[in-house]
Amino acid sequence: MGAYGGSFLSKIDFDTNGTMMTVRPIRLRPSIASFARNTLLALTAAALGMVQTSIAHAQSSSLPIVRDAEIEALVTDYATPILNAAGLGNHAIKIVLVNNSSFNAFVDGRRIFINTGALLQAETPNEIIGVLAHETGHLAGGHQFQLREQLANAKTMAVVAGLLGAGAIVAGAAAGAGGLSKAGAGIAMGAPEVAMRGLLNYQRTEEMAADRSAITYLAKTGQSAKGMLTTFERFSNALALTGTRMDPYRISHPLPRERIANLETLARASPYFDKLDSPALQQRHDLMRGKIAAYTGGGASVLQTFRKDPQNIGARYGDAIATYLNGSVQAALPKIDALIKEQPKNPYFVEIRGEMLLKQNKVQDAAAAFQKASSLDPRRSSLIRMSYGRALMLTGTPANLKTSIDELKASIGRDRESPAGYAYLAQAYGQMGDMARSDLASAEEKYYSGKTQDAQIFATRAQRGLKSGSPEWIQAQDIISAKRK
Ligand SMILES: [Zn+2]
Repeated sequence: MGAYGGSFLSKIDFDTNGTMMTVRPIRLRPSIASFARNTLLALTAAALGMVQTSIAHAQSSSLPIVRDAEIEALVTDYATPILNAAGLGNHAIKIVLVNNSSFNAFVDGRRIFINTGALLQAETPNEIIGVLAHETGHLAGGHQFQLREQLANAKTMAVVAGLLGAGAIVAGAAAGAGGLSKAGAGIAMGAPEVAMRGLLNYQRTEEMAADRSAITYLAKTGQSAKGMLTTFERFSNALALTGTRMDPYRISHPLPRERIANLETLARASPYFDKLDSPALQQRHDLMRGKIAAYTGGGASVLQTFRKDPQNIGARYGDAIATYLNGSVQAALPKIDALIKEQPKNPYFVEIRGEMLLKQNKVQDAAAAFQKASSLDPRRSSLIRMSYGRALMLTGTPANLKTSIDELKASIGRDRESPAGYAYLAQAYGQMGDMARSDLASAEEKYYSGKTQDAQIFATRAQRGLKSGSPEWIQAQDIISAKRK
Protein backbone atom coordinates (compact mmCIF):
# COMPACT_ATOMS: atom_id res chain seq x y z
CA MET A 1 0.00 0.00 0.00
CA GLY A 2 2.43 2.69 1.14
CA ALA A 3 4.30 2.80 -2.16
CA TYR A 4 1.30 3.66 -4.26
CA GLY A 5 1.85 5.09 -7.67
CA GLY A 6 5.61 4.70 -7.67
CA SER A 7 6.24 1.99 -10.20
CA PHE A 8 3.33 2.98 -12.39
CA LEU A 9 4.32 6.60 -12.66
CA SER A 10 7.96 5.89 -13.27
CA LYS A 11 7.08 3.43 -16.02
CA ILE A 12 4.66 5.62 -17.86
CA ASP A 13 5.53 8.96 -19.24
CA PHE A 14 3.54 10.61 -21.94
CA ASP A 15 6.71 11.87 -23.58
CA THR A 16 7.68 8.34 -24.47
CA ASN A 17 4.48 6.30 -24.34
CA GLY A 18 1.20 7.39 -25.77
CA THR A 19 -1.16 4.78 -24.45
CA MET A 20 -2.19 4.92 -20.82
CA MET A 21 -0.03 7.90 -20.17
CA THR A 22 0.26 9.98 -17.11
CA VAL A 23 -0.81 13.53 -17.58
CA ARG A 24 1.91 15.99 -16.86
CA PRO A 25 1.92 16.71 -13.13
CA ILE A 26 -0.19 19.61 -12.03
CA ARG A 27 2.06 21.96 -10.16
CA LEU A 28 0.77 24.28 -7.53
CA ARG A 29 2.34 25.96 -4.60
CA PRO A 30 3.48 22.97 -2.52
CA SER A 31 1.31 23.66 0.50
CA ILE A 32 -1.82 24.08 -1.59
CA ALA A 33 -0.91 21.14 -3.77
CA SER A 34 -0.47 18.66 -0.97
CA PHE A 35 -3.58 20.02 0.64
CA ALA A 36 -5.53 19.54 -2.56
CA ARG A 37 -4.13 16.12 -3.10
CA ASN A 38 -4.90 15.03 0.42
CA THR A 39 -8.40 16.30 0.07
CA LEU A 40 -8.99 14.50 -3.20
CA LEU A 41 -7.61 11.27 -1.82
CA ALA A 42 -9.65 11.60 1.33
CA LEU A 43 -12.64 12.44 -0.76
CA THR A 44 -12.43 9.45 -3.04
CA ALA A 45 -11.49 7.25 -0.12
CA ALA A 46 -14.50 8.23 1.85
CA ALA A 47 -16.78 8.07 -1.12
CA LEU A 48 -16.44 4.35 -1.09
CA GLY A 49 -15.88 4.01 2.58
CA MET A 50 -12.28 2.96 2.20
CA VAL A 51 -9.53 4.53 4.14
CA GLN A 52 -6.69 5.62 1.99
CA THR A 53 -3.85 4.52 4.20
CA SER A 54 -1.29 6.50 2.28
CA ILE A 55 -2.97 9.85 2.83
CA ALA A 56 -0.40 10.71 5.44
CA HIS A 57 2.39 10.13 2.91
CA ALA A 58 0.80 12.01 0.07
CA GLN A 59 3.27 14.85 -0.27
CA SER A 60 3.63 14.88 -4.03
CA SER A 61 2.52 17.96 -5.87
CA SER A 62 0.71 16.17 -8.67
CA LEU A 63 -2.60 14.43 -9.08
CA PRO A 64 -1.92 10.94 -10.37
CA ILE A 65 -4.27 10.96 -13.32
CA VAL A 66 -3.89 8.50 -16.20
CA ARG A 67 -5.57 8.59 -19.59
CA ASP A 68 -6.48 5.57 -21.67
CA ALA A 69 -8.99 5.34 -24.53
CA GLU A 70 -9.94 1.72 -23.88
CA ILE A 71 -10.55 2.08 -20.15
CA GLU A 72 -12.36 5.38 -20.46
CA ALA A 73 -14.71 3.86 -23.05
CA LEU A 74 -15.41 0.81 -20.89
CA VAL A 75 -16.11 2.73 -17.67
CA THR A 76 -18.37 5.07 -19.66
CA ASP A 77 -20.29 2.02 -20.84
CA TYR A 78 -20.58 0.81 -17.24
CA ALA A 79 -21.81 4.14 -15.95
CA THR A 80 -24.10 5.45 -18.67
CA PRO A 81 -27.11 3.11 -18.15
CA ILE A 82 -26.92 3.64 -14.38
CA LEU A 83 -26.83 7.42 -14.69
CA ASN A 84 -29.72 7.25 -17.16
CA ALA A 85 -31.72 5.11 -14.73
CA ALA A 86 -31.09 7.74 -12.05
CA GLY A 87 -32.25 10.49 -14.39
CA LEU A 88 -28.76 11.99 -14.46
CA GLY A 89 -27.72 10.89 -17.90
CA ASN A 90 -28.18 14.04 -19.93
CA HIS A 91 -24.54 15.13 -19.88
CA ALA A 92 -21.53 13.50 -21.41
CA ILE A 93 -19.61 12.14 -18.47
CA LYS A 94 -15.89 12.27 -18.22
CA ILE A 95 -13.98 9.38 -16.70
CA VAL A 96 -11.06 10.40 -14.51
CA LEU A 97 -8.72 7.48 -13.85
CA VAL A 98 -6.80 7.98 -10.64
CA ASN A 99 -3.60 6.00 -10.53
CA ASN A 100 -3.85 4.43 -7.14
CA SER A 101 -3.85 0.78 -6.14
CA SER A 102 -6.58 1.09 -3.52
CA PHE A 103 -10.26 0.58 -4.30
CA ASN A 104 -12.04 3.90 -4.74
CA ALA A 105 -14.67 5.62 -6.82
CA PHE A 106 -16.50 8.93 -6.67
CA VAL A 107 -19.16 10.44 -8.93
CA ASP A 108 -19.74 14.19 -9.22
CA GLY A 109 -22.34 14.24 -11.99
CA ARG A 110 -20.04 15.36 -14.77
CA ARG A 111 -17.20 13.08 -13.89
CA ILE A 112 -16.47 9.72 -12.42
CA PHE A 113 -13.24 9.47 -10.49
CA ILE A 114 -12.17 5.86 -10.24
CA ASN A 115 -8.95 4.28 -9.08
CA THR A 116 -7.10 1.91 -11.36
CA GLY A 117 -6.84 -0.32 -8.27
CA ALA A 118 -10.61 -0.66 -8.16
CA LEU A 119 -10.74 -1.71 -11.80
CA LEU A 120 -7.94 -4.20 -11.30
CA GLN A 121 -9.40 -5.72 -8.14
CA ALA A 122 -12.92 -6.15 -9.47
CA GLU A 123 -13.23 -9.56 -11.14
CA THR A 124 -16.44 -8.71 -12.99
CA PRO A 125 -17.97 -5.62 -14.62
CA ASN A 126 -20.88 -6.08 -12.23
CA GLU A 127 -18.68 -5.27 -9.21
CA ILE A 128 -17.72 -1.90 -10.67
CA ILE A 129 -21.22 -1.22 -11.97
CA GLY A 130 -22.59 -1.91 -8.47
CA VAL A 131 -20.18 0.53 -6.88
CA LEU A 132 -20.98 3.18 -9.50
CA ALA A 133 -24.67 2.57 -8.77
CA HIS A 134 -24.05 3.17 -5.05
CA GLU A 135 -22.10 6.37 -5.77
CA THR A 136 -24.84 7.52 -8.13
CA GLY A 137 -27.24 6.90 -5.25
CA HIS A 138 -25.26 9.40 -3.13
CA LEU A 139 -25.28 11.84 -6.01
CA ALA A 140 -29.01 11.57 -6.69
CA GLY A 141 -29.70 11.78 -2.96
CA GLY A 142 -27.85 15.09 -2.72
CA HIS A 143 -25.44 13.72 -0.13
CA GLN A 144 -22.31 15.84 0.41
CA PHE A 145 -23.91 18.49 -1.73
CA GLN A 146 -21.52 21.32 -0.88
CA LEU A 147 -18.49 19.27 -1.78
CA ARG A 148 -20.01 18.08 -5.05
CA GLU A 149 -20.85 21.63 -6.01
CA GLN A 150 -17.23 22.59 -5.66
CA LEU A 151 -16.11 19.67 -7.77
CA ALA A 152 -18.78 20.17 -10.41
CA ASN A 153 -17.76 23.78 -10.91
CA ALA A 154 -14.17 22.83 -11.58
CA LYS A 155 -13.29 23.04 -15.27
CA THR A 156 -9.92 21.36 -15.44
CA MET A 157 -7.94 18.97 -13.34
CA ALA A 158 -5.64 21.85 -12.44
CA VAL A 159 -8.66 23.73 -11.19
CA VAL A 160 -9.90 20.68 -9.35
CA ALA A 161 -6.62 20.61 -7.50
CA GLY A 162 -6.77 24.31 -6.75
CA LEU A 163 -10.41 24.27 -5.84
CA LEU A 164 -10.09 21.38 -3.48
CA GLY A 165 -7.36 23.26 -1.72
CA ALA A 166 -7.91 26.97 -1.92
CA GLY A 167 -11.64 26.62 -2.48
CA ALA A 168 -12.08 24.81 0.76
CA ILE A 169 -10.20 27.51 2.63
CA VAL A 170 -12.22 30.28 0.98
CA ALA A 171 -15.47 28.49 1.69
CA GLY A 172 -14.41 28.05 5.27
CA ALA A 173 -13.50 31.70 5.69
CA ALA A 174 -16.73 32.84 4.11
CA ALA A 175 -19.08 30.48 5.83
CA GLY A 176 -17.49 30.33 9.24
CA ALA A 177 -17.05 26.97 10.84
CA GLY A 178 -18.62 24.61 8.33
CA GLY A 179 -17.49 21.11 7.63
CA LEU A 180 -15.23 22.26 4.84
CA SER A 181 -13.42 24.84 6.92
CA LYS A 182 -12.83 22.33 9.64
CA ALA A 183 -11.53 19.96 7.02
CA GLY A 184 -9.19 22.64 5.70
CA ALA A 185 -7.82 23.35 9.12
CA GLY A 186 -7.48 19.65 9.76
CA ILE A 187 -5.40 19.03 6.69
CA ALA A 188 -3.37 22.18 7.20
CA MET A 189 -2.46 20.90 10.64
CA GLY A 190 -1.41 17.61 9.11
CA ALA A 191 -4.31 15.70 10.58
CA PRO A 192 -6.21 14.13 7.72
CA GLU A 193 -8.51 12.28 10.12
CA VAL A 194 -9.98 15.61 11.15
CA ALA A 195 -10.57 16.38 7.51
CA MET A 196 -12.24 13.09 6.92
CA ARG A 197 -14.51 13.56 9.89
CA GLY A 198 -15.46 17.02 8.69
CA LEU A 199 -15.76 16.35 5.00
CA LEU A 200 -16.64 12.85 4.35
CA ASN A 201 -19.05 11.55 6.84
CA TYR A 202 -21.80 10.06 4.85
CA GLN A 203 -24.39 9.38 7.49
CA ARG A 204 -25.45 5.86 8.21
CA THR A 205 -28.87 6.76 6.80
CA GLU A 206 -27.24 8.13 3.64
CA GLU A 207 -25.33 4.88 3.14
CA MET A 208 -28.52 2.88 3.41
CA ALA A 209 -30.34 5.30 1.09
CA ALA A 210 -27.55 5.07 -1.50
CA ASP A 211 -27.70 1.27 -1.30
CA ARG A 212 -31.46 1.33 -1.85
CA SER A 213 -31.16 3.71 -4.81
CA ALA A 214 -28.41 1.55 -6.28
CA ILE A 215 -30.65 -1.51 -6.11
CA THR A 216 -33.34 0.42 -8.01
CA TYR A 217 -30.96 1.54 -10.77
CA LEU A 218 -29.59 -1.97 -11.15
CA ALA A 219 -33.09 -3.45 -11.39
CA LYS A 220 -34.14 -0.80 -13.92
CA THR A 221 -31.18 -1.71 -16.11
CA GLY A 222 -31.73 -5.46 -15.67
CA GLN A 223 -28.50 -6.00 -13.75
CA SER A 224 -27.64 -7.89 -10.59
CA ALA A 225 -26.65 -6.27 -7.30
CA LYS A 226 -24.45 -9.23 -6.50
CA GLY A 227 -21.25 -7.40 -7.45
CA MET A 228 -22.05 -4.52 -5.12
CA LEU A 229 -22.77 -6.95 -2.31
CA THR A 230 -19.55 -8.87 -2.96
CA THR A 231 -17.54 -5.66 -2.95
CA PHE A 232 -19.00 -4.21 0.23
CA GLU A 233 -18.71 -7.55 2.01
CA ARG A 234 -15.05 -7.57 1.08
CA PHE A 235 -14.57 -4.07 2.51
CA SER A 236 -16.39 -4.98 5.64
CA ASN A 237 -14.11 -7.99 6.17
CA ALA A 238 -10.97 -6.09 5.25
CA LEU A 239 -11.86 -3.42 7.80
CA ALA A 240 -12.16 -5.93 10.57
CA LEU A 241 -8.56 -6.97 10.00
CA THR A 242 -6.76 -3.68 9.87
CA GLY A 243 -7.06 -2.27 13.38
CA THR A 244 -6.29 1.24 14.49
CA ARG A 245 -5.40 2.69 11.08
CA MET A 246 -9.07 2.45 10.22
CA ASP A 247 -10.22 4.69 13.03
CA PRO A 248 -10.89 7.75 10.84
CA TYR A 249 -12.97 5.61 8.59
CA ARG A 250 -14.92 4.11 11.42
CA ILE A 251 -15.76 7.58 12.64
CA SER A 252 -16.74 9.02 9.28
CA HIS A 253 -18.10 6.17 7.27
CA PRO A 254 -19.77 3.32 9.08
CA LEU A 255 -20.29 0.03 7.26
CA PRO A 256 -22.14 -1.88 9.93
CA ARG A 257 -23.31 -5.49 9.77
CA GLU A 258 -26.92 -4.39 9.52
CA ARG A 259 -26.15 -2.48 6.33
CA ILE A 260 -24.62 -5.53 4.68
CA ALA A 261 -27.53 -7.67 5.89
CA ASN A 262 -30.03 -5.16 4.50
CA LEU A 263 -28.20 -4.96 1.22
CA GLU A 264 -28.13 -8.71 0.91
CA THR A 265 -31.89 -8.99 1.46
CA LEU A 266 -32.58 -6.33 -1.17
CA ALA A 267 -30.08 -7.76 -3.65
CA ARG A 268 -31.45 -11.30 -3.41
CA ALA A 269 -35.01 -10.09 -3.88
CA SER A 270 -34.17 -8.92 -7.41
CA PRO A 271 -35.11 -11.23 -10.29
CA TYR A 272 -31.71 -10.36 -11.77
CA PHE A 273 -29.64 -11.52 -8.78
CA ASP A 274 -28.11 -14.45 -10.65
CA LYS A 275 -27.79 -12.66 -13.95
CA LEU A 276 -24.21 -12.50 -15.21
CA ASP A 277 -22.54 -9.77 -17.25
CA SER A 278 -22.63 -10.48 -20.96
CA PRO A 279 -19.60 -12.46 -22.19
CA ALA A 280 -18.62 -9.53 -24.43
CA LEU A 281 -18.58 -7.09 -21.49
CA GLN A 282 -16.73 -9.56 -19.28
CA GLN A 283 -14.12 -9.90 -22.01
CA ARG A 284 -13.62 -6.15 -22.24
CA HIS A 285 -13.26 -6.12 -18.47
CA ASP A 286 -10.64 -8.87 -18.62
CA LEU A 287 -8.72 -6.97 -21.30
CA MET A 288 -8.78 -3.84 -19.17
CA ARG A 289 -7.51 -5.73 -16.13
CA GLY A 290 -4.72 -7.25 -18.21
CA LYS A 291 -3.69 -3.78 -19.37
CA ILE A 292 -3.78 -2.20 -15.91
CA ALA A 293 -1.87 -5.14 -14.42
CA ALA A 294 0.81 -4.79 -17.11
CA TYR A 295 1.19 -1.05 -16.62
CA THR A 296 1.09 -1.08 -12.83
CA GLY A 297 2.94 -4.27 -11.95
CA GLY A 298 4.40 -5.76 -15.13
CA GLY A 299 4.35 -9.44 -16.07
CA ALA A 300 4.22 -10.62 -12.46
CA SER A 301 1.04 -8.69 -11.84
CA VAL A 302 -0.52 -10.05 -15.04
CA LEU A 303 0.22 -13.62 -13.89
CA GLN A 304 -1.16 -12.88 -10.44
CA THR A 305 -4.33 -11.28 -11.81
CA PHE A 306 -5.11 -14.23 -14.08
CA ARG A 307 -3.71 -17.03 -11.91
CA LYS A 308 -7.06 -18.85 -12.08
CA ASP A 309 -7.32 -18.47 -15.86
CA PRO A 310 -3.88 -18.06 -17.41
CA GLN A 311 -5.15 -18.50 -20.99
CA ASN A 312 -7.69 -15.70 -20.65
CA ILE A 313 -7.44 -13.16 -23.46
CA GLY A 314 -6.81 -10.50 -20.79
CA ALA A 315 -3.79 -12.46 -19.61
CA ARG A 316 -2.41 -12.67 -23.14
CA TYR A 317 -3.07 -8.98 -23.75
CA GLY A 318 -1.39 -8.10 -20.45
CA ASP A 319 1.56 -10.33 -21.36
CA ALA A 320 1.97 -8.58 -24.73
CA ILE A 321 1.91 -5.14 -23.07
CA ALA A 322 4.21 -6.15 -20.22
CA THR A 323 6.68 -7.62 -22.73
CA TYR A 324 6.68 -4.35 -24.66
CA LEU A 325 7.02 -2.20 -21.53
CA ASN A 326 9.89 -4.40 -20.49
CA GLY A 327 11.75 -3.25 -23.59
CA SER A 328 11.30 -6.40 -25.68
CA VAL A 329 9.31 -4.96 -28.55
CA GLN A 330 10.61 -7.66 -30.88
CA ALA A 331 9.04 -10.32 -28.65
CA ALA A 332 5.90 -8.28 -27.98
CA LEU A 333 4.91 -7.68 -31.62
CA PRO A 334 4.04 -11.32 -32.47
CA LYS A 335 1.98 -11.48 -29.28
CA ILE A 336 -0.13 -8.48 -30.19
CA ASP A 337 -0.33 -9.63 -33.81
CA ALA A 338 -1.84 -12.93 -32.63
CA LEU A 339 -4.50 -10.97 -30.75
CA ILE A 340 -5.19 -8.75 -33.77
CA LYS A 341 -5.68 -11.91 -35.83
CA GLU A 342 -8.27 -13.06 -33.30
CA GLN A 343 -10.06 -9.69 -33.16
CA PRO A 344 -9.17 -7.68 -36.27
CA LYS A 345 -11.68 -4.95 -35.39
CA ASN A 346 -10.42 -4.25 -31.88
CA PRO A 347 -9.09 -0.67 -32.07
CA TYR A 348 -7.05 -0.93 -28.88
CA PHE A 349 -4.98 -3.90 -30.05
CA VAL A 350 -4.02 -1.90 -33.13
CA GLU A 351 -3.37 1.16 -30.96
CA ILE A 352 -0.92 -0.78 -28.78
CA ARG A 353 0.73 -2.12 -31.94
CA GLY A 354 1.24 1.51 -32.96
CA GLU A 355 2.90 2.20 -29.61
CA MET A 356 5.25 -0.74 -30.14
CA LEU A 357 6.20 0.43 -33.63
CA LEU A 358 6.84 3.91 -32.27
CA LYS A 359 9.18 2.41 -29.71
CA GLN A 360 11.09 0.87 -32.63
CA ASN A 361 11.22 4.27 -34.31
CA LYS A 362 9.12 2.99 -37.20
CA VAL A 363 7.18 6.22 -37.18
CA GLN A 364 5.50 5.85 -40.57
CA ASP A 365 4.22 2.36 -39.71
CA ALA A 366 3.15 3.60 -36.29
CA ALA A 367 1.19 6.43 -37.89
CA ALA A 368 -0.58 3.92 -40.16
CA ALA A 369 -1.46 1.77 -37.13
CA PHE A 370 -2.89 4.73 -35.20
CA GLN A 371 -4.84 5.85 -38.24
CA LYS A 372 -6.33 2.35 -38.49
CA ALA A 373 -7.05 2.23 -34.75
CA SER A 374 -8.79 5.56 -34.96
CA SER A 375 -10.94 4.42 -37.87
CA LEU A 376 -11.90 1.24 -35.96
CA ASP A 377 -12.75 3.19 -32.81
CA PRO A 378 -16.50 3.92 -32.77
CA ARG A 379 -15.93 6.75 -30.27
CA ARG A 380 -13.14 8.40 -32.22
CA SER A 381 -11.22 8.83 -28.98
CA SER A 382 -9.22 12.03 -28.81
CA LEU A 383 -6.34 10.04 -27.33
CA ILE A 384 -5.95 7.75 -30.35
CA ARG A 385 -6.19 10.74 -32.70
CA MET A 386 -3.53 12.45 -30.64
CA SER A 387 -1.24 9.43 -31.03
CA TYR A 388 -1.87 9.51 -34.77
CA GLY A 389 -1.06 13.21 -34.93
CA ARG A 390 2.03 12.72 -32.85
CA ALA A 391 3.35 9.85 -35.02
CA LEU A 392 2.80 11.93 -38.16
CA MET A 393 4.66 14.80 -36.52
CA LEU A 394 7.59 12.50 -35.77
CA THR A 395 7.94 11.55 -39.45
CA GLY A 396 8.86 15.18 -40.07
CA THR A 397 7.79 15.32 -43.73
CA PRO A 398 6.02 18.55 -44.73
CA ALA A 399 2.82 16.81 -45.89
CA ASN A 400 2.63 14.74 -42.70
CA LEU A 401 3.29 17.78 -40.52
CA LYS A 402 0.30 19.49 -42.03
CA THR A 403 -1.98 16.45 -41.41
CA SER A 404 -0.43 16.12 -37.96
CA ILE A 405 -1.53 19.63 -37.06
CA ASP A 406 -5.06 18.93 -38.31
CA GLU A 407 -5.27 15.71 -36.29
CA LEU A 408 -3.86 17.27 -33.14
CA LYS A 409 -6.27 20.16 -33.43
CA ALA A 410 -9.16 17.71 -33.91
CA SER A 411 -8.00 15.80 -30.85
CA ILE A 412 -7.79 18.97 -28.77
CA GLY A 413 -11.21 20.00 -30.06
CA ARG A 414 -12.66 16.90 -28.43
CA ASP A 415 -10.60 17.17 -25.27
CA ARG A 416 -9.78 20.80 -24.57
CA GLU A 417 -8.02 20.23 -21.31
CA SER A 418 -5.30 17.94 -22.59
CA PRO A 419 -1.84 19.42 -22.01
CA ALA A 420 -0.22 16.60 -23.99
CA GLY A 421 -2.14 17.46 -27.16
CA TYR A 422 -0.87 21.04 -27.00
CA ALA A 423 2.68 19.85 -26.33
CA TYR A 424 2.69 17.82 -29.55
CA LEU A 425 1.03 20.64 -31.45
CA ALA A 426 3.81 22.97 -30.28
CA GLN A 427 6.38 20.48 -31.59
CA ALA A 428 4.62 20.16 -34.94
CA TYR A 429 4.47 23.93 -35.44
CA GLY A 430 8.08 24.19 -34.31
CA GLN A 431 9.14 21.70 -36.97
CA MET A 432 7.29 23.71 -39.59
CA GLY A 433 9.17 26.79 -38.45
CA ASP A 434 6.01 28.55 -37.27
CA MET A 435 7.40 29.69 -33.93
CA ALA A 436 4.52 32.00 -32.99
CA ARG A 437 1.92 29.23 -33.20
CA SER A 438 4.35 26.85 -31.52
CA ASP A 439 4.66 29.31 -28.62
CA LEU A 440 0.90 29.72 -28.47
CA ALA A 441 0.42 25.94 -28.23
CA SER A 442 3.10 25.83 -25.50
CA ALA A 443 1.25 28.58 -23.67
CA GLU A 444 -1.93 26.46 -23.75
CA GLU A 445 -0.02 23.42 -22.58
CA LYS A 446 1.40 25.32 -19.60
CA TYR A 447 -1.99 26.85 -18.89
CA TYR A 448 -3.74 23.49 -18.69
CA SER A 449 -0.89 22.10 -16.60
CA GLY A 450 -1.58 24.79 -14.02
CA LYS A 451 1.67 26.66 -14.79
CA THR A 452 0.09 30.05 -15.28
CA GLN A 453 3.28 32.10 -15.18
CA ASP A 454 5.04 29.96 -17.78
CA ALA A 455 1.87 30.12 -19.86
CA GLN A 456 1.99 33.92 -19.81
CA ILE A 457 5.63 33.98 -20.86
CA PHE A 458 4.91 31.79 -23.89
CA ALA A 459 1.76 33.73 -24.75
CA THR A 460 3.63 37.05 -24.65
CA ARG A 461 6.30 35.65 -26.94
CA ALA A 462 3.65 34.21 -29.28
CA GLN A 463 1.94 37.59 -29.63
CA ARG A 464 5.08 39.14 -31.11
CA GLY A 465 4.70 36.87 -34.15
CA LEU A 466 0.92 37.06 -34.46
CA LYS A 467 -1.20 39.66 -36.19
CA SER A 468 -2.51 42.07 -33.59
CA GLY A 469 -6.22 41.52 -33.01
CA SER A 470 -6.34 38.17 -34.88
CA PRO A 471 -8.19 35.27 -33.19
CA GLU A 472 -4.89 33.64 -32.21
CA TRP A 473 -3.53 36.93 -30.87
CA ILE A 474 -6.69 37.21 -28.73
CA GLN A 475 -6.25 33.60 -27.60
CA ALA A 476 -2.78 34.56 -26.38
CA GLN A 477 -4.14 37.71 -24.77
CA ASP A 478 -6.71 35.66 -22.84
CA ILE A 479 -3.90 33.60 -21.35
CA ILE A 480 -1.86 36.71 -20.52
CA SER A 481 -4.74 38.37 -18.75
CA ALA A 482 -5.86 34.98 -17.34
CA LYS A 483 -9.36 35.66 -18.62
CA ARG A 484 -10.44 32.20 -19.71
CA LYS A 485 -13.82 30.61 -20.21
ZN1 LIG B 1 -21.52 5.28 0.37
